[in-house]
Amino acid sequence: MRILVTGGAGFLGSHLCDRLLAEGHTVIAMDNLITGTTDNIAHLAGHPRFKFIFHDVTEYIYIEGDLDAVFHFASPASPVDFPAFPIQIGKVNAVGTYRTLGLAKAKGARFVLASTSEVYGDPLVHPQPESYWGNVNPIGVRGIYDESKRFAEALTMAYHRVHGLDTRIVRIFNTYGPRMRLNDGRVVPNFISQALRGEPLTVYGDGTQTRSFTYVDDLIEGIYRLFLSEEIEPVNIGNPEEYRIIDFAKLVNELTGNQAGIVFKPLPQDDPKKRRPDITKARRVLGWEPRVPVREGLLRTIEDFRKRLSLP
Ligand code: UDP
Repeated sequence: MRILVTGGAGFLGSHLCDRLLAEGHTVIAMDNLITGTTDNIAHLAGHPRFKFIFHDVTEYIYIEGDLDAVFHFASPASPVDFPAFPIQIGKVNAVGTYRTLGLAKAKGARFVLASTSEVYGDPLVHPQPESYWGNVNPIGVRGIYDESKRFAEALTMAYHRVHGLDTRIVRIFNTYGPRMRLNDGRVVPNFISQALRGEPLTVYGDGTQTRSFTYVDDLIEGIYRLFLSEEIEPVNIGNPEEYRIIDFAKLVNELTGNQAGIVFKPLPQDDPKKRRPDITKARRVLGWEPRVPVREGLLRTIEDFRKRLSLP
């Protein structure tokens, strides 16, 4: 197949390009590089089935020739990006989704939307099944990300219902792994960078809030299975193993041998208190579940960070 990946130079987008190429597809990666970097796809330069196009998908997208699939993965996604790029986030998930849906319709291509566990906001139901509608503050600092992703889901379903577009929606839970930005601001890159520099880990709030962490290879496997499935409605992909952030910090210190301990910082606005996917549907429909234990995934990520931080 010939496939477009928007956000193809990002963390998840670049891993997705790798997987699609390994499956024998031809891949066009598109990115405006506001949070992505060509470092993530440098190893693909010169690949006969790979092409990179520098483009902002909120502008009209022109692709010559046929397309069999469009994966819309462009969007800043770290909480530190929310106050830094709120308008770009709103545009890429609203206008960018509109343009990529229009492109998929014009080409008769299958469309896959990268959605997020943030559609559940600060959830009142735990763990979160796909049937839960969420608890989002529309005007808080996270609102632009959460609401624009919710709109992107709504628009995707509208194109499916009105035009019969062949669509998929993946709700991605916290994912980590090699290639995350060193200064990404999310908890895994922060903790690993701090630990490798021998600094104390910054736990926000009292650290009793929970998250569950999916290794990137597991996530990409789930997305690829969803792509090949017939499932139109959203599917959660995430690791249901839930950690309190304070315990997760201790684990990172243990795995890196960091002696500097932990410091507490203020909890950001609207930081969800709990998050854990209910993956009953992914198990049933895709036969998917995570395979990489958190310790192993963290060790692989620590290795990658050690190299990129140029540490021994
Ligand atoms: N967090 C933390 N220290 C950090 C970065 C994040 O304690 O240096 C916390 C953050 O407050 C949140 C959790 O870790 O409760 C996950 O944050 P992240 O930014 O990774 O993504 P989120 O799941 O909030 O979108």
